Parts: sequence; C-alpha cells; structure tokens
Amino acid sequence: MRYRARVKLRTLLAVLALAVTSVTRAQDATAPSIASFANVTEGRYQVFAQGGHQMAFEVNLFMKEMLRQYEKFFNNWSIKDGARVIVFDNPEDFRHYTGNVVSLTHAGLAGYCHLKTDEAGNQFYEIVTYQDPNLWRVLAHEGFHQFIGYELGLQIPTWLNEGTAQYFETSSITGSHFNVGQISRNKLLYAQALILNKKAPPIAQLVTWDQATFYANANVAYPMSWALVYYLLNSNNDRYEQSRFRRYLQDLKFGNDSFRSLQKEFGSDVNRWQADFEDYILHLKPQTD
Ligand SMILES: [Zn+2]
Repeated sequence: MRYRARVKLRTLLAVLALAVTSVTRAQDATAPSIASFANVTEGRYQVFAQGGHQMAFEVNLFMKEMLRQYEKFFNNWSIKDGARVIVFDNPEDFRHYTGNVVSLTHAGLAGYCHLKTDEAGNQFYEIVTYQDPNLWRVLAHEGFHQFIGYELGLQIPTWLNEGTAQYFETSSITGSHFNVGQISRNKLLYAQALILNKKAPPIAQLVTWDQATFYANANVAYPMSWALVYYLLNSNNDRYEQSRFRRYLQDLKFGNDSFRSLQKEFGSDVNRWQADFEDYILHLKPQTD
C-alpha cells in the first residue's frame, strides 16, 4: 500500500512562530540575501522572487486573487495587513533560509507561513517557499493559513487549519469562477489506504491533537484532516453559507471546544459518525493529480 508515498509536509507556524523570535536569529550565512531578489509590491503582498521579475509578478497576481477568493468564500472583508512572500528558485537556498526560522528543515517541508517580527518590532505574515511543480498549490495552501488567522484567530485547532488549507490548495480559477476542493488523487488514495488498513486515528482523537502531536504524526494527520474537512464541507450538499460546517466555525470563534462543537453540529453518536465518514471517503473519486 501507499502509506510511504510522498506526502508534502506543509507546516503552519503562525502560532508556533509567536514563541520563536525570528529577529534574534541571524540568517544562515549561506542563504542568499532576499534584498537581491526581484521584488513586486502591489495590493497586500510584497513578493521577493529569486527566479526574477516575471515570477515575482505572477506570484503577486496569484496571491492577490487567492486572497480575494478566500474573502469571498468566507464573506470576510476585514482589512488585512500586508504580507511578504519569498519564493526561492531552488530547495537548497529555501532550506538554508528556513533553517534559522523554523527547526523543520527536513526534505518534506515545501513551504510555511509564520508571523515574523522585523528589527523595528513590526509583525507581519511571511510566506516562504521555492519553485517546484507544486508551487501554486503551496502558495494557495500557505495563503490560506495567512487568511484564516483573520477569520478564526490564531486559536484555530491544528487539524482544522491544515485540513482546510489542504482543501483549498487544489483550487483553480477559470474566468470568474472559483473551483474549490478538487480531490487530489494522491491525497485521496492515501486517506483511503489509512482507513482500509485501520491506521487512521479516530476523528475523536484527531480533532483533539495539539500542534506538537499533530506534526509528530504528520503522515496520518495531514491526509485524515483533509478527509475530515472534505466530508464536513461536502457530505450534506449544503451551500457553505447554510452549512453546519460554517456554524461549527462560528462556534469555534467563541472559543468553544473543538470536539464538543463538532458533536453539537454533527451529532453525539461518534461511532455512527466515524462509520459514515469512512464510508463517504472510501467512495470518493479523484478529480485531479
Ligand atoms: Zn499547512
């Protein structure tokens, strides 16, 4: 089976980063200076691209459009602060840069979003990644982490944050239409294999994992949190505005407990729920790579 298939580990560090003082950590001497990168600043994004001006321009355009789509989807038009996006043109420089900010420098890390503090004490979101065939998915994913802070605050449960970011990462825009939640083949096969082989953590457990536990179990936590978000958003065929998922998010905003709020919206019989969830995921079909 395919548990050992590549699963990109994309990490949210928005919360973690509050405890990490990026300022005091000098940059790795081998990391190139981003001041020498092409820079396009427009709308809410300041983009630095090692690959040149065209790349910086396209990334800026993409980030602005994704933010607009997230705002529309969640009907959240609050004023967002400017954010910085850094795109390296190779994974080595990305890891040199990253190594100082986060301790996750292993090969699986494709990008991250964190709160950075500059020398003047200003805090802003910084999204960092590198050029790769998955670049646009990573940007959509990290851009979502940046957005969701405005919608739910930084207290969002990790499974929900990572599950939703993965849900949106396959989004595409055709004309004026925002296609969301396309099912990625790899992700689906992986989640299905975990369920079939009884390696998936029960929902009741997954949703209570704190950040450290979640990332320590990344191989199962990522695909199953995607699957759970997919199920919650789609299994009732509701429009998002009327959905139980939306009411659940509202409940979380008031600081209510992640699992209890879920039970409130989706029923207290956890075993029935678990069975229904697994059956639903096992019958899904992939829609994209
Ligand atoms: Zn993530």
